[in-house]
Amino acid sequence: MAFESLTDRLQNAFSKLRKKGKISETDLRGAMREIRLALLEADVNFTVVKNFVKTVRDKAIGADVLKGLNPTQQIVKIVNDELVKIMGDQAVDLNKSPKIPTIIMMVGLQGAGKTTTAGKLALKLKNEQKARPLMIAGDVYRPAAIDQLVQVGQQIDVPVFQLGTDVDPVEIVRQGLQKADEENNDYVIIDTAGRLQIDEKLMDELSRIKALAHPNEILLVVDAMTGQNAVNTAEGFNNQLDVTGVVLTKLDGDTRGGAALSIRAVTGKPIKFIGQGEKMTDLDVFHPDRMASRILGMGDMLTLIEKTQKEYDEKQAQDVTKKIRENSFDFNDFVDQMDQMQNMGSMEDIMKMIPGMANNPALKNANIDPKDMAHMKAIVLSMTPAEREDPNLLNPSRRRRIAGGSGRPVVEVNRMIKQFGQMKKMMNQMSKGNFNGMDGLLGK
Ligand code: GDP
Repeated sequence: MAFESLTDRLQNAFSKLRKKGKISETDLRGAMREIRLALLEADVNFTVVKNFVKTVRDKAIGADVLKGLNPTQQIVKIVNDELVKIMGDQAVDLNKSPKIPTIIMMVGLQGAGKTTTAGKLALKLKNEQKARPLMIAGDVYRPAAIDQLVQVGQQIDVPVFQLGTDVDPVEIVRQGLQKADEENNDYVIIDTAGRLQIDEKLMDELSRIKALAHPNEILLVVDAMTGQNAVNTAEGFNNQLDVTGVVLTKLDGDTRGGAALSIRAVTGKPIKFIGQGEKMTDLDVFHPDRMASRILGMGDMLTLIEKTQKEYDEKQAQDVTKKIRENSFDFNDFVDQMDQMQNMGSMEDIMKMIPGMANNPALKNANIDPKDMAHMKAIVLSMTPAEREDPNLLNPSRRRRIAGGSGRPVVEVNRMIKQFGQMKKMMNQMSKGNFNGMDGLLGK
C-alpha cells in the first residue's frame, strides 16, 4: 500500500514526542530530523523537503506550541496543514470549455497509464455529468495502442475515433475533432503516443497536436511508482507543453509517495486525479487534505464514503449518513452496507481507508474472507425485523435462537453483535469529526 513506510516513520516520530509530554527545542529538532529523513526516504524532492521542514519548525517555534497544551498534537496539526499546502490546498476541477466540446489531451511516457486513464476519465464524465465523450486514438507507434483504446471504449460504451497507424496523428486529431462536431460530443479525449523517455520528436508531435486542437486541458499522466522520475518527467513535459494538470497513477501500488508530495511544488501544476487500480472506475479526484490524512495514517474516510455513495443512489446515501449521525444505524443498514461493500472491491483496501486502520498490524496479513461476510449476513437475516432495528432486544435466548437459525455458533453471534455496537459507536464519533476514540493524531 502506498505511503506505508512514510506513515510508519511519521507516526513513530510523533509517538516519541507524545511520550515525552513536555517538549524541549532539542526534542523538536530531533523530531524534525526524523521527519526530514522520512520524507527523503519516501523520495520527496530535496528542495521540497528542505522548505517543508523549515516551515514546520518556524511555525512550531513561532506559535509557541512547545509551551502550550498538547504540543505534539499541535505539531501534528502543523505537519498536516503543511502537507496539504504543498499538495496544493484544494482539489482543482477539470477545465471546461464555455462551448462544446471540451478538449482534453492526455500526454505522458509509455506505460504511465494514459490509455487506461483516458477510458477512466471518459467513464467518470459519462457517469457523473451524463457527458457524451469521444475518444481519439492518436498513438500510432505503440503496437496495439489503438486496439487497447478501442477495447476500453467498448467496455465503457464510449465511441473511439481512429484511422489506424498509417496516418499522421495530427491529421487523426483534426478528423476526430470534425467527427465530434458532427456528433455533438461534449467532451473529446485525445490519447497520444508515449515514449520510454522524453524526446524531441515526441514533443514536436505533441506540440503540433496542441496547436491544432487548442485543448482546454492537457493532462499529464505520471506513474507514482517511479518516484523522483515522475517529478522529472512532469517538469520536462510541463516545460515543453505547459500542461494544465497531472494525473498520478498506480497509487494503489507500493509507491513510497514522493511524487504525490513533490509534483505540485516542483511544477506548480495541480494533481487533478489519482489512479488507484486497473479497473475503469478506479479514478478519483485528488484532494490534498484527504491525501495528507492518508499519509498521516488517519485514513481516508471521505473517499470511502464517496465510494460507497457511488454505489448507492443519492437518497440512500443521505439516509445512511443521517442514520450514522443520529446513531440509529441498525442491522438492516448493516446488511445493505455489506452488500454494497462487496460490490466495491477488495475489503482490505476499503478497510485501509478507515482511520487508524492503515497501519494496523492486524491488517498486515489480513485476508478478509468473503465467507465471514456471508456468515454475518446469515446471522442478521436470522433476526426478526424488530431485532434488526433494535439490537437492545437481543437477550441471550434470542441470541441462541439466531445462532440456531443461521447455523453459526452462539459465540460468533455474540461477537458480531458486540462488533456491530463498537462500529456504530466509532461511526457516530467520526461523523462528528471526533477521531479521539481511534488514537487520532489531530485529537480534534
Ligand atoms: P500508456 O502506455 O500510458 O497508455 O499506459 P496504459 O494505459 O497502457 O497502462 C499501462 C499499465 O498500467 C496497464 O497495465 C494498466 O492497467 C496499468 N495502470 C494504469 N493505471 C493504473 C493504476 O492507477 N493502478 C494500477 N495498478 N495499474 C494501472
